[in-house]
Amino acid sequence: MKICLSCNARFNISEWNCPECGFIPINKEGYLCFAPDLTKESEGFKYIF
Ligand SMILES: [Zn+2]
Repeated sequence: MKICLSCNARFNISEWNCPECGFIPINKEGYLCFAPDLTKESEGFKYIF
């Protein structure tokens, strides 16, 4: 499950863009940007799923 950082909608689709508001969590480097403070850690994305 993914959670939109913009509207907090919860959705379960393969795409990362939010079906509710269209928000796409990609930063300027082109990486998915859910947790800017945790991206340097190997388990930084674990809490999302
Ligand atoms: Zn959204």
